[in-house]
Amino acid sequence: MASIAFNDLKAQYHHLKEAIDTNIAAVLESGAFISGPQVQELEDALCRYTGRKYCVTVSNGTDALVMPLMAKGIGEGDAVFVPSFTFVATAEVVSQQGATPIFCDVDDVTFNLDPVSLRKKIQEVQAEGKLTPKAVISVDLFGLPADYHAIREICDEFGLLLMEDAAQGFGGEINGVKACNFGDVSTTSFFPAKPLGCYGDGGAIFTDDPELYEVLASIRVHGKGTEKYDNVRVGLNARLDTLQAAILLPKLREFDTENTNRNNMAALYTQLLRDKYDTPVVPEGYYSSWAQYTIKAKSPEHRTKVQAALKAADIPSMVYYPKPLHRQTVYEPLGYRPGDLPVSERLSSVVFSLPMHGYLTEDIVRKICQILNQVED
Ligand SMILES: *Cc1c(COP(=O)(O)O)cnc(C)c1O
Repeated sequence: MASIAFNDLKAQYHHLKEAIDTNIAAVLESGAFISGPQVQELEDALCRYTGRKYCVTVSNGTDALVMPLMAKGIGEGDAVFVPSFTFVATAEVVSQQGATPIFCDVDDVTFNLDPVSLRKKIQEVQAEGKLTPKAVISVDLFGLPADYHAIREICDEFGLLLMEDAAQGFGGEINGVKACNFGDVSTTSFFPAKPLGCYGDGGAIFTDDPELYEVLASIRVHGKGTEKYDNVRVGLNARLDTLQAAILLPKLREFDTENTNRNNMAALYTQLLRDKYDTPVVPEGYYSSWAQYTIKAKSPEHRTKVQAALKAADIPSMVYYPKPLHRQTVYEPLGYRPGDLPVSERLSSVVFSLPMHGYLTEDIVRKICQILNQVED
């Protein structure tokens, strides 16, 4: 039997091979490697899929987060509130712009930004009076949209820009509204391992604001004005390659089928594991795109034991994320101490993620769960 893949990109390629190969060949024949027609075609398709008015495809999910901060002039002296339990890019972009990331704790059940912690952190920054609260970057971690009902209310109350980092959240929903709709500006990543991945780096920004759209489109190409050699602001070189757009088009057409399979496999994992493990909870009205299927061990030692048992059976597992951002070396100067964000710290010590992708089968899930259920507590 072939070894079990954590994310089976090869199975996806074989399934879509004809369409992907045809699209790649068409780009090679055309020679339009930069800003070819497939880029606009993809942006239109992404707008239709999400229901959002404007889409700017970009070079990666990190630039997708940097560009709205640039567009809004967020920088030195500004505070941007982010969850601590996320991939480093969410906070890194804030620092890159000279602003200060303020780390908030997450919810123990959904792993997403905790509105109670967010409010407390905003009030603390206000009371201290050193930084100006400007924005919140909320993350749809592991494919599940954050609590946007509560987070939107807080952003409106304090006059903060709401950015949705849906790098992992593309394809998630709240009450039928698709992820990438919940921020004033929302972003995603097409890194190969994300729910919708390309064959290299890629990303996209979504908004309904026509002025912001124009500024983002300008920043993407060196701050261009009405034409290429008219430069009106400091920008980036942040275009998505035509080849990646051509690869994403057939993948987007297959996305819902794969997403349904991920949801079916997640349901089976949960059914087979819930007696022995703390399995993920999808709140009423929410839909996850299962960027990761992440469960909690009973203790750090238990996690070590479980991962060793999986490894012995040739089953891959990963820890997302072993260290919360407020405890990372790079953020030591901000002065956080152990215990400051207890939920993020505890989750980092017990969570682990199991194989999950659009081509996962029932047999494999059953085999994985059998191993997991044999491990002693
Ligand atoms: C992957 C990821 C990013 C960055 O995306 P890249 O395309 O790798 O730059 C940002 N935020 C989160 C939460 C991510 O998981």
